[in-house]
Amino acid sequence: MNHLMQTLGFGSEDRNNGVSYKKYLLKKQIIEIFYKEGNKTIPKLCEITNNSVPNITNLLGELSNDGWICSFGMGHSKGGRKPTLYGINTNIGYILGIDLSRQYTRMCIFNLHNNYIGEILELNEGLSNSGNILTFLKESVDKLLNTNNIQIEQILGIGIAIPGFIDIRKGVSYSYPQLGDKPLKETFEDILNRPVFIEHDTRTIALGEKWFGLAKNITDVLFLNIGSGIGLSMILNGNLFRGHSGFSGEFGHIQMDPEGELCYCGKVGCLETVASGTAIVKRSKEIILKGKNTLISKITDNNPEKIKLKTIIDAANLGDQFAIELLEEASEYLSKGISILIHLFNPEAIIIGGEMAYADSLIKDPIQQKISKYTITLMKQDTQILVSQLKGEAALLGTLPVVMSKLFSEEFS
Ligand SMILES: [Zn+2]
Repeated sequence: MNHLMQTLGFGSEDRNNGVSYKKYLLKKQIIEIFYKEGNKTIPKLCEITNNSVPNITNLLGELSNDGWICSFGMGHSKGGRKPTLYGINTNIGYILGIDLSRQYTRMCIFNLHNNYIGEILELNEGLSNSGNILTFLKESVDKLLNTNNIQIEQILGIGIAIPGFIDIRKGVSYSYPQLGDKPLKETFEDILNRPVFIEHDTRTIALGEKWFGLAKNITDVLFLNIGSGIGLSMILNGNLFRGHSGFSGEFGHIQMDPEGELCYCGKVGCLETVASGTAIVKRSKEIILKGKNTLISKITDNNPEKIKLKTIIDAANLGDQFAIELLEEASEYLSKGISILIHLFNPEAIIIGGEMAYADSLIKDPIQQKISKYTITLMKQDTQILVSQLKGEAALLGTLPVVMSKLFSEEFS
């Protein structure tokens, strides 16, 4: 019996009762409609769900008594009395979103109107540098709940965006053995005591963009997550594409230079070895150590160990020529890769997200110029190159549809 079924008034004794079950499904559908489309009047709900006014009025009464919904003023009228607008009660429960990365963790609480509760908790520890990752997560979640005066029981579900290879059939991570060999969902639920739903970080970014960002009305769109690595996720025909085992989108490991450097994946000259944040930072350090004069050194107090991709982007945005050149150099390889994607998928848009989105036109403009070299003109004209406006928050926001789709309807995302 899941938590949601109980709070929606569906007890274990009702399992074999078709009428109760139908009612429960309709209640879930109403909440789903409110969540996806906002507040609605009774006539509108009757139209969408194909139900009678007495039936919907009765269900709304029960949902209201249970605290799930409340009225939100009056709707429009075509004449006569204005109908009441109903929607999800803002205080009924919350979603906790966690963007768990290699080097950092971001988490935040949201209400069911998709509003942030308090501030995002940003921590400079993640999967690769936090000691015991599970203890760290538990302590961080407790801290966030305490800060916002919210009890763990008020959290309806927790969505976690996670990088690396995740086998969707077994639910395990092949990239982070420190997470154990049990399915990730079980591992996290054991320590956090709430329903947990996992999604690959780059695909969570795609969902964030699809629900809240530039991809809202686009059905064929690709997302590049450029940070320490380079990930790709795809929404094709309006649906998230995962691949047979859930490993699709390893765009960072297509070969760019057969004579290039060894990649951590075991192959040589991968795109990540020349155009990822890690590669750009490495290159900047090498040149700075040879005596290059750049704003990057000033920003990092002459300590090359402090250089991050964001430092380079900040310097570029301040006009530092060397930093701009580093981004342009990466854009050459990115353009080659992007031209392959355009030829294969003919997408309406490619959205550049992740840390690289902070570079905005400093990465978009050179990519746009250079893909002309590599892409058939007719196809290039049909694809827009965009930079995410959600920037680092896309993954966090993307955990919301991940959780809501599982709680309310599998077809939700
Ligand atoms: Zn590789």
